[in-house]
Amino acid sequence: MTLPFRMNALWKTYFVIALMSIVFTLAATFVDWQRIEDRARSELNYSNGLVSHSIHNLFDKHELLLELLGNRLLEIGVTDQIKSSNLLDTFLTANPELGGLGLALPSGQLIVTSSNLAKAKDNLLDKEETLKSFKQSLSTNKMVVGRTYYVPALKQWLIPLRKRIVDKNGRTVAVMTSGITFNFLKGTLSDQSNRSNADVSLVREDFYRQYVSVAPQSDYQRVFQTPLAENLIQQISKTMKEQVGFGLDFLKSQHKGERVTFYVKNYQGKLALGSLKYDEKYHFYSSVWVEKALIVNKLYERLFWYVILLLLFNVSLYFLFRVNMDSQNESHQELEFQAMHDQLTKLPNRRYLLEAFDAWKHANKNGFAVFFIDLDSFKNINDLYGHSVGDRVLLEVSTRVVANFDNCLCVRQGGDEFIILTHSNERVHNLNACRNFLTHLYKPFVLDGFEFSLKASLGVVQYPNDGRQLDELLSKADMAMYEAKRLRCGFFPYSEGLQEKTQRIAVIERELIHALEREEFFIVYQPQFNATSKKMIGVEALLRWDNPSLGFVPPDEFIAVAESIGLIHDIGLFVFETALTEFINVCHITNKNREKLRLSVNVSVQQLFHPSFLESISQLQKRHDCSAIELMVEVTESLFIDDVGLAKKILLALRGKDIQVSLDDFGTGYSSLGVLSGLPINELKIDKTFVDNILNNSQDLQLIKSIISLGNGLGIPVIAEGVEQAEQVSTLSKNGCDFFQGYYFSKPLNKADLITFILK
Ligand code: C2E
Ligand code: CA
Ligand code: CA
Repeated sequence: MTLPFRMNALWKTYFVIALMSIVFTLAATFVDWQRIEDRARSELNYSNGLVSHSIHNLFDKHELLLELLGNRLLEIGVTDQIKSSNLLDTFLTANPELGGLGLALPSGQLIVTSSNLAKAKDNLLDKEETLKSFKQSLSTNKMVVGRTYYVPALKQWLIPLRKRIVDKNGRTVAVMTSGITFNFLKGTLSDQSNRSNADVSLVREDFYRQYVSVAPQSDYQRVFQTPLAENLIQQISKTMKEQVGFGLDFLKSQHKGERVTFYVKNYQGKLALGSLKYDEKYHFYSSVWVEKALIVNKLYERLFWYVILLLLFNVSLYFLFRVNMDSQNESHQELEFQAMHDQLTKLPNRRYLLEAFDAWKHANKNGFAVFFIDLDSFKNINDLYGHSVGDRVLLEVSTRVVANFDNCLCVRQGGDEFIILTHSNERVHNLNACRNFLTHLYKPFVLDGFEFSLKASLGVVQYPNDGRQLDELLSKADMAMYEAKRLRCGFFPYSEGLQEKTQRIAVIERELIHALEREEFFIVYQPQFNATSKKMIGVEALLRWDNPSLGFVPPDEFIAVAESIGLIHDIGLFVFETALTEFINVCHITNKNREKLRLSVNVSVQQLFHPSFLESISQLQKRHDCSAIELMVEVTESLFIDDVGLAKKILLALRGKDIQVSLDDFGTGYSSLGVLSGLPINELKIDKTFVDNILNNSQDLQLIKSIISLGNGLGIPVIAEGVEQAEQVSTLSKNGCDFFQGYYFSKPLNKADLITFILK
C-alpha cells in the first residue's frame, strides 16, 4: 500500500528555478536586443554622417572649382573655342568624377563644353530634367545640384552641378555646369552601403531621388525621373513622427544637420531601421538603411547560445533534482514501509490495517472474519529466556501465522498479539482455520537448545454481523479472545451476551481492588461428615463477598477475576488468616473431647504457584496454634496441566508442614491414574455436577463408581460434595463414598451459626 502521491517540495523548487532561468534568459535577451538595436542606430548614424559629409565635401569642392573654372574661361574669352575646350578637357582629366563640363549663357545655351560633349551643345532650358536646376542657379550664388539624369552623349547618369558666374557688377554672365557621374558616387558611397549591408540613398528636398544604392540600373529611369509618391512621403513623415517626435518638415526646419533613426518600410517593402539627415546647404536628405531582419539576426546568434545554455542548465538541473528525488523517494518509501509495518516481523502493523480496512471491506462485500490472536503466557518466555529469544519466538510465530492464514491480511498488532482478516464469511470454515492454526502453532520448535511449544487464544468476529467498523470488530474480537483465554478453550466466537459479561467483569475488577481494605469479605463454613458414623469431620471454608453496589457476588464469578488481576494471593491469605482464627476459636468453644476437626481451605492454582505461598503458610502456622485442628487445602486438577513437577514439589512441601491435600472438582478434568498415583493426595472430592445427576444419569453414576474404586485402589478416601437428597446419600454410601458435604447436611454457616450447629 502506498500513500497518495504528493508534489514534492523539491520538485516545486526545481520548477521555480527552471522558471527563473527562463525569465532570466528572456530578460537577458531583451537587454541584448536593446543593446544591439542601440548599436545599430549609432552605426547607422555614423555611416549616414560619413555619407552626408563626403557628399557635402564633394559638392563644396566642386562649387569652388566651378567658380574658378568659370571665371578662368571668361578671362580666356569663350570665343577661343579650342583653348576653352582644352582647358575643360584638362580639367576633366584631373577630376575623373566629373562626366563633362560646360559653360552656358544665362539664356541656357551651352557655348563651351569639354570635347566629349561637343556634339551635345544643348540649351539647358529646353529639357525638363535640366530646366529647373538651371533656372535656380541663375538666382543664387550657391551651387545648385540638379536632378540625376541620363546624358545620352556620355551614356551615363549624372548628377548635375551648376554655378552661376557673375561679373564685377554682380551681373550673371554665365552658368558653369558639370555633372558627377553616378558611377563615381556609387563608388564613393559603396563603402558605407557595403558596411553592414546598408542601403544608402540621397533624396532631394523636392523628393526626387538623387542616389539609391539598391536600385538596379534597369530601374534608374523610374527611380530618378519620378519623385517619391506623396502618400509615401506622408507615410514616412508620420512613422518618423511617431518614433522620433517630429516629421520631415521639422527635420528640415528645426533639426538641421541632426541625424534621427527610425523604422520604416524600405525600397523593397521590408521593415528597415534607418538614419536620416538633411543637408541645408545642398538641400538633400541623406539616409542609410538596414533591414530589421539583419539586426534581429544578430540577436538570434546570441539567442542561440542563450537557448543552448538554458537547455544545458535545465537538463543538468533536472538530473540533479532527479537523482535527489529518487533518493528521497527511496527513503520516503522506506519510511512509509516502516510506518506501515512492524519492525521485527515485517508484517503490516495496525496503521496499515486502518488504511487497508475500507478496501478489504470493499473486496469482501459478502463478509469476512477477524481473528484476534494472543499468545498464552508469552510473558513467561520473555521473563525466563530474555527478550532476544522472545523476539525470535515471535518471528517463528509470525512465520506460522502467515503460512497458516494464506491469502489473508496478517497484522502484528503489537507484543504477542496478531490480527487476521480472512476472505471467508463461512463460520465453520473460519473456526476450522482457527483450529488448524492452533494445531500448527502447537508443534514444538527448538531455539538456543530450548524446546518451545506455543499456545494461543483466538477471538473470532464476523463482518458485518458483529460490526461494521474496525474499532468495534477489534474490541469484540478482543473480548472473545479474553473469553477463550479464561475458558482455556483456544478460540471463542463472539456472541451477543459476551459484551455484558465483559462489562460485568470490568465492574467486578473495579470493585474487587478495594474489597479487602474495605473489609467486604467474610468466611462461611460448610460442615463435612463421615458416611458411616454420620459424625462431623470438619468444614470447608468458603469465601463470601458482599459489595455495597454489586450486592452479594458468588465466588465462582469473582475468584477468576481476582486471579486474572493478580489479587488472588492476597485474598487467599485473608481466607487462611480469617478461617484459621475463627475455626480454631470455634473448636476451642465447642471442644467436647472429641477427635480433631479439620479445616479445608480452597487454594487456586495461581495462589499455589506464587513464589511466596509456602513461606506465607509457614508464617501462618507460626502465628496460629493449629494443634487443635487439622489443616487441609483443596486444589483442582488444573494444577497438573502446566507443570506437574512443580505442583508435586509444592504438595510435598505442604505435606511436610502437616497439611493435607484434597483434589477438588475431581472428574471434571483429565487426571489419569498414572499421574495421581505419584502425587501426595489425601482425598478425592467428587464434583457437585456428578452428584447432581447421580439418580437419573447412569453415566454419572458410573463415573462416581470408578472414582470411588480409584480412590480405594490408591488408598485415598473419597468425599462427595453438593449432596442434597437422602437418596443421593444412600446411593453414594452403598458405593463406598467415605465422606459427605452438602445442603442435605448443612448449608455453609457463619462462625456463630457453626458454633450453634456443632453444639446442637
Ligand atoms: P467448590 O470448592 O467446589 O465449593 C463448593 C461449592 O458448592 C460452594 O459454592 C458451596 O456453597 C456449594 N455447595 C455445597 N453443597 C451444596 C449443595 O448441596 N447444593 C448446592 N447448590 N451447592 C452446594 P460457593 O461457596 O459458591 O463456591 C464456589 C466455588 O468458589 C468453590 O467451589 C471454589 O472453587 C470457589 N471458592 C470458594 N471459596 C474460595 C476460596 O476461599 N478460595 C478459592 N480459591 N476458591 C474459593
Ligand atoms: Ca472446594
Ligand atoms: Ca467443586
